[in-house]
Amino acid sequence: MAGTDTVTHVFEQAGLGRAPFRLAGVEDTAAGVGEDGLVRRDVGGVTVHAKPGGSCDFCGNYIKVFCWVRSSDGRRFKVGSSCVDKAGKAGDRRLASAAKRARNPGIPSGSSLGCQTTWPR
Ligand SMILES: [Zn+2]
Repeated sequence: MAGTDTVTHVFEQAGLGRAPFRLAGVEDTAAGVGEDGLVRRDVGGVTVHAKPGGSCDFCGNYIKVFCWVRSSDGRRFKVGSSCVDKAGKAGDRRLASAAKRARNPGIPSGSSLGCQTTWPR
């Protein structure tokens, strides 16, 4: 379905997949930090100890909170909240507001999200 505008989505321009994009979840990578300052992550069944955070797939900046996004052609990538905001300003308000609600569960929302709204402890 075509949107109301014909502007190419900023994520699509960056080669991250095809619009429309949907929020697949928000992950606070710093939430599981242990006493050693590292987080345990399960990678293919193996637990690895790593520094929290990573790089945004859109701008390359270091991010701690991953906003996982899925494209309509099945790609999954992570971007920082500021890049979700960027997409929102560029026209994708739905994605931006979904990410905002996921990060701030206190914000009243009209619709429920299929993603995590509380941080794991
Ligand atoms: Zn970014």
